[in-house]
Amino acid sequence: MNVKTIMVIGAGQMGSGIAQVCAMANYKVYLHDLKEEFVQKGMESISRQLARQVEKGKMAADERKAVLERLHPSTDIQNAADADLVIEAVIENMDVKTQVFKMLDEMAPEHAILASNTSSLPITEIAAVTNRPERVIGMHFMNPVPVMKLVEIIRGLQTSDGVYQLIEEVTKQVGKVPVEVNDFPGFISNRILMPMINEAIFALYEGVAEPEAIDEIMKLGMNHPMGPLTLADFIGLDTCLYIMETLQEGFGDDKYRPCPLLRKYVKAGWLGKKSGKGFYTYN
Ligand code: NAD
Repeated sequence: MNVKTIMVIGAGQMGSGIAQVCAMANYKVYLHDLKEEFVQKGMESISRQLARQVEKGKMAADERKAVLERLHPSTDIQNAADADLVIEAVIENMDVKTQVFKMLDEMAPEHAILASNTSSLPITEIAAVTNRPERVIGMHFMNPVPVMKLVEIIRGLQTSDGVYQLIEEVTKQVGKVPVEVNDFPGFISNRILMPMINEAIFALYEGVAEPEAIDEIMKLGMNHPMGPLTLADFIGLDTCLYIMETLQEGFGDDKYRPCPLLRKYVKAGWLGKKSGKGFYTYN
């Protein structure tokens, strides 16, 4: 099977980045969201990103035009009928994702592969709501997608070897490095990253240090390019909370309990950079 058309579901920060790199790799891409304004926001963010590339001399102006022409805004899920591969990047919530996968299973052609960009939810459970669990797989891109090289590829319990190999190929085509993992809560990336971020939030909650100090220590002392609280703001505090809850529930272990301060911020609508306020304030 040859992947020619990719549909990305969810035009938020991850979905728009994924759509961008796929269009840059010559695929025809549908960028889909619930409302036209959400899709437009995603398209504008891609257009701005590409314009910056042109300004820096990293991309020719007509190449930018060609990439934008390969991108098709969508609010009609029936466009999935045209897709060889669908990459889902909606919010990190099992009910929402399973609903989306049930619809995609009905709409997408039989040969199509359904991938999820979930940060932590079980691929096996998502696959189980479809009639093609062997064609369901995790493609966990990193944020910001155009910059970060890794795609963690998660094999569900029933993912076939052929599907795994094809997704490995597509990942390389879009200029990324695939790394294979099995389906356990948080996979590898977030099983290790999120408890560290959560611990940084606990340190703030307990008054051990100010946010700037926590971040500075991890940057200068551990050589991390970004402090854990800045990174949490960047990822989105709602996403961080969902992931901690998934780890806690998935392993049945309270060592993963989300810090109460994280819950409080999310309840207040302080979701980090995307809402303008998290551990820091953004314009
Ligand atoms: P986001 O909130 O920026 O975007 C989510 C988008 O999904 C929104 O535009 C929303 O309107 C749309 N959406 C919600 N329900 C939908 C539905 N039923 N159909 C179509 N669209 C729908 O979130 P994000 O940060 O882009 O995260 C998306 C996914 O990527 C999550 O599963 C998250 O865990 C994962 N992820 C996030 C990061 C990160 O750093 N933010 C990194 C890797 C993976």
